Amino acid sequence: MLDFDKGDPTMYEAYWKSVGDDFKITLPASILLSYFTNPKSFCWYALPKLEQEIKNLHNLVGNAVVEGRHIVVGNGSSQLIQAALYALTEPLDLPSPINVVSAAPFYSCYPQISDYVRSGLFKWGGDAHVYIDHDSQPYIEMVTSPNNPDGELRGPVVNKVNGMLVHDLAYYWPQYTAITDPADHDIMLFTVSKCTGHAGSRIGWAIVKDLDVAKRMVKFMEISTIGVSKEAQLRAISILEMISTNSCPSNFFEFGQFVMAERWKKLREALQGIDVLQIPNFPPQHCNFKTDFLHCTPAYAWMKAQVGINLEEVMQEESIRVRGGKTFGCPSNYARLSMLGRDNDFDLLLKRLPSILKRLAH
Ligand code: PMP
Repeated sequence: MLDFDKGDPTMYEAYWKSVGDDFKITLPASILLSYFTNPKSFCWYALPKLEQEIKNLHNLVGNAVVEGRHIVVGNGSSQLIQAALYALTEPLDLPSPINVVSAAPFYSCYPQISDYVRSGLFKWGGDAHVYIDHDSQPYIEMVTSPNNPDGELRGPVVNKVNGMLVHDLAYYWPQYTAITDPADHDIMLFTVSKCTGHAGSRIGWAIVKDLDVAKRMVKFMEISTIGVSKEAQLRAISILEMISTNSCPSNFFEFGQFVMAERWKKLREALQGIDVLQIPNFPPQHCNFKTDFLHCTPAYAWMKAQVGINLEEVMQEESIRVRGGKTFGCPSNYARLSMLGRDNDFDLLLKRLPSILKRLAH
């Protein structure tokens, strides 16, 4: 069974192996024992150098405005989604939980994150396309751009004055999409998981305009985990610095763009002229980082089979695990295939595709 279900970014191992041992970090047992690193800052557990490296990387790539913004560090962006929901809803002091919506196909974890602990502050409100605004109640819309699972660059869809937005920009990096402009939204979430591939380090960050919102996000972090591991922060610092200063043997984003472009090319070739399994097309867009036109090469292939087919089940019969459309708020003839795994697995997938297509055609 090959796992194309999880968005586990193991494709980046090959790159970091090529970097070798020169950049490994070792830590004496005597350092960073304290919970605190920067008591003067509102984000008192964050290493100041991490904040600086995050800003340097965004300035290099040009994918987000960071000047005058507040950086909140989290245990992956998963924790920051929760922190943002808390920070936006807590001061409203409403008698019932407010709705969290996102346009289908939406990232499959938003419903779980919203409902898992049955919060009194917020609850999952479903597909933003069909959201009905009752009595001008406040709501939160999660805007994922490029979107997981379909790779589209997106904006909000509900657009009511009583709405609050959280922009999840986990995939707004040049290996996945054209960088069209520096994003500048109230709350923007990023993560090393999808940027550098270090998902195991559990480091994410939020770029927040309003200091009070940022402070409440830090309050959430204090209550849930009393900050973020200093070891993980140190690792993130060294990796982000390596990328920003281009001190690796080869350019990191060029590697990512090359691997993703190759995989998408092979997948498109395998599916050319085939109507039983379709994947989205993306028109070339100008990338300000590359200063050239780019074909988007998203982290996932959002596949569509004919109506009535359960695509997840059909692929499972050929020992390929993918995530079915239902978890993204769509019918089960859709499924998401991760493009972020290892080369070997991807090659095996291509070998099994003809049998999958045969099953779909019958
Ligand atoms: N947002 C989106 C859209 C994602 O796809 C993911 C990971 N699959 C996350 C957030 C969470 O990432 P992490 O917690 O690893 O930072």
